[in-house]
Amino acid sequence: MDKTDIRSMLPAELERMLADMGQPKFRAAQLYRWLQSGVTDLDSMTDIPAKLKLELKDAAYIADVKIARRLESALDGTVKYLYELCDGEYIESVLMKYEHGYTVCISTQVGCRMGCGFCASGLNGLTRNLTASEMCAQITAAQRDNGIRVSNVVMMGMGEPLDNFDNSVRFLRLVSDKAGLNIGLRHISLSTSGVVKKKKKLKDYNFPITLSVSLHAPYDEIRSSIMPVNRKWGISELLNACREYQRVTTRRISFEYALISGVNDSDGCARRLAEILKGIMCHVNLIPANPVKENSFKKPDRNKINHFKELLIKNGVNATVRRTLGADIDASCGQLRKQAKEG
Ligand code: SAH
Ligand code: SF4
Repeated sequence: MDKTDIRSMLPAELERMLADMGQPKFRAAQLYRWLQSGVTDLDSMTDIPAKLKLELKDAAYIADVKIARRLESALDGTVKYLYELCDGEYIESVLMKYEHGYTVCISTQVGCRMGCGFCASGLNGLTRNLTASEMCAQITAAQRDNGIRVSNVVMMGMGEPLDNFDNSVRFLRLVSDKAGLNIGLRHISLSTSGVVKKKKKLKDYNFPITLSVSLHAPYDEIRSSIMPVNRKWGISELLNACREYQRVTTRRISFEYALISGVNDSDGCARRLAEILKGIMCHVNLIPANPVKENSFKKPDRNKINHFKELLIKNGVNATVRRTLGADIDASCGQLRKQAKEG
């Protein structure tokens, strides 16, 4: 029999499970608090009776991540983690320090099946989805390792969160729960390559998170050549879904645009981008493309990047260039895992 992943359980689910084991309601609340605070050893849970611990060891497991590698930037303290999961798979996470607090960038899948040409995470396809508990564990492991409290989360690591929809939604509920990590949904960003069908579903939850949409090109021809998902849902369908999302949630949308030299950095691209974003309350986040050894994509030079940004601003779009953090530990997302797998 498969053991139950109790760290992924919502309060009501844990209550039901413990009620079936003959336990009172308050016991579930006690256990939930331990689990969500990142305690993974039942024996350390001082107020849980020994008999229940034995039963739980039999029926359940507590997911955690183990630090396999840790790279800390000497420039700004950014820490990049390679975590090992219970089944020996690897994922990556990054801890960043900002003026307003600590942000963790978490992975949502082992690998990714979306196959974007510039991204190291998807090079070998999807291995498996992460559970909600494995997403939470990336946060508590970083907190424990650094003796800090994380205030913001971005779902921008390895994987496509909307391709792991149910677990991502479960994670959002757990992480924002007051009795859990209590990180408000307004402090969480979810980045998607544009799985339109699931984005429509996400809208119905009306979570006050920030939605980041990886746009990367204003023309279908270019976008399809670097992002296969565009062949299924083209730019106009994607932007219609964004408008609808915004109508319901009233939240500003953030568009990610990785600038790749000679691919999507022309003046024409900037002007067209401004045109297609008209009427959407948004912000464009320009990311100089991170070089990945397996492809030949390069970032444009500084001047070109600034020129692109200025053109957007001149055409009425709110745009900034993403600040580079941890430049001295620069390994694009997905690369540490690849190195670990290749030994
Ligand atoms: N799958 C989701 C979230 C993870 S990727 C998505 O695609 O949005 C997080 C962000 O990093 C995305 O905007 C993605 O396009 C970008 N990204 C991936 N590889 C990159 C690279 N080599 N250079 C710059 N940005 C990259
Ligand atoms: Fe997957 Fe996002 Fe990388 Fe595309 S950019 S392969 S969707 S992780």
